[in-house]
Amino acid sequence: MEQGGIELIQVEELRADFGADDHGGWFCVRTDPFPCPANGCDFVAEFMTAAHLILVWELRDDPNLLRHAERAKQVGRNPRVTSYVRSFGPSASYYAWEAAGRPVHAVRGK
Ligand SMILES: [Zn+2]
Repeated sequence: MEQGGIELIQVEELRADFGADDHGGWFCVRTDPFPCPANGCDFVAEFMTAAHLILVWELRDDPNLLRHAERAKQVGRNPRVTSYVRSFGPSASYYAWEAAGRPVHAVRGK
């Protein structure tokens, strides 16, 4: 579980970087549960996430949102575009995530 502790700290750092805003009224993509692809990580996402943060888009017809949802559909994740509410969990703006170099897990790239 030591690894889990380390990851938590890094998620907090990432959140400070690009997840700080309240994204109420933005849109996210709910999916069937799928495990984090990182080796040894037992996080299970029920949304399209990056570094365990729910990715949110400002517009529900954002081409990037549609592209990611289409990809999720192709791999059987049953994506549904949903209005984001805070109780879903911490969020990250897709645009800020992309600007941060698209980290897929809570480990920061150098
Ligand atoms: Zn993970």
